Amino acid sequence: DRNPDEGGIGVIGLGRFGCQLAESLAALGREVLAIDRDARKVQRWSTKLDQVAQADSTDEDALRQLDVGDLRRVVVAIGASVQASVLTVLALVELGVPQIWARATSAQHAKILSSVGAHRVIFPEAETGERLAHLIVSRMLDFA
Ligand code: ATP
Repeated sequence: DRNPDEGGIGVIGLGRFGCQLAESLAALGREVLAIDRDARKVQRWSTKLDQVAQADSTDEDALRQLDVGDLRRVVVAIGASVQASVLTVLALVELGVPQIWARATSAQHAKILSSVGAHRVIFPEAETGERLAHLIVSRMLDFA
């Protein structure tokens, strides 16, 4: 079996979270395929990332044409539209992507993502807030 740390990573949805994720993965030397349906965002990011494609990620055939099924891991970074994120996860399951990570914005959203087949559900805002709280408290101890 291939090393799970190798292979391309897909990032779907280039909002603030998705952009930062794609940029950080590229800085770590990983091959990233970024996808957004918004042509202006694709245009803007095409100079910073090696592979950026315009597609509606709820469209399984569009993802197939981009060889998304060959990626080891895909992160669905769409936040605002529950429908778009759920349908995207469904398309990725159909394509047989082995590791599907998806961003949730509520507990119900997370349950749907898991039941559709997401392997890991992430809450970027909640996780960042929690980490920041620990950081602030530890810094306060530093200066106590
Ligand atoms: P952030 O908090 O990360 O800025 P957001 O919640 O403000 O995200 P969203 O509306 O979730 O923004 O959109 C994130 C990105 O996902 C946008 O760039 C949007 O164009 C893209 N997106 C939304 N739906 C689809 C889709 N069906 N296919 C491809 N990209 C999509």
